Amino acid sequence: MTELIISILPFLVLAYVVLLALKRIKRFFTPYKDTPFGFKGKLVYLDKGKNSATFFNKKYRIAAKGGDFIYLTDDGAYVLIEYKSRKGRIHQSDIAQTIASVLAARSIYPITRAIIATETQSKEINVLGSDDVLYNNIKEVHLLTQQIKNGMRVNTYYNAPYKCQSCNMRTYCTRKSVD
Ligand code: SF4
Repeated sequence: MTELIISILPFLVLAYVVLLALKRIKRFFTPYKDTPFGFKGKLVYLDKGKNSATFFNKKYRIAAKGGDFIYLTDDGAYVLIEYKSRKGRIHQSDIAQTIASVLAARSIYPITRAIIATETQSKEINVLGSDDVLYNNIKEVHLLTQQIKNGMRVNTYYNAPYKCQSCNMRTYCTRKSVD
């Protein structure tokens, strides 16, 4: 049996390479449609609210939606989009949230690009690194959210009514400035 597998392995590899090449050729002649985010892609995930899939990164115990959209591009990259329905700039908390979404979504889709967009701005953030590298960027915030979820009264916080109003830690947080 092992000998049989070894003898057909080169053919399987060749078939795989040919299949990939055919896919590339097909995409070259029939590219995906334009997305609203400045590239061509096929929608593979859409956050439709509470019934949409939540992804889970087992190593870091991060559960999150896959941003608002995930697209597959013509060159085979998976792009996660975090869309904020507000005008104005992109905040550090948006970046941390997007990195958490990338880490969670990678349990299904090998995300290598991520874009955060508000109604007036958009920014691509670098998510090419390994899960470990990405997690290091949000470790502190993630540990803080874990503490809040566990009911701890944290000492690092920023409670402004407009922030707390839309914060998803609000249910657990003892520092919130609104009910
Ligand atoms: S509810 Fe307010 S104070 Fe608590 S974590 Fe959220 S933004 Fe910070």
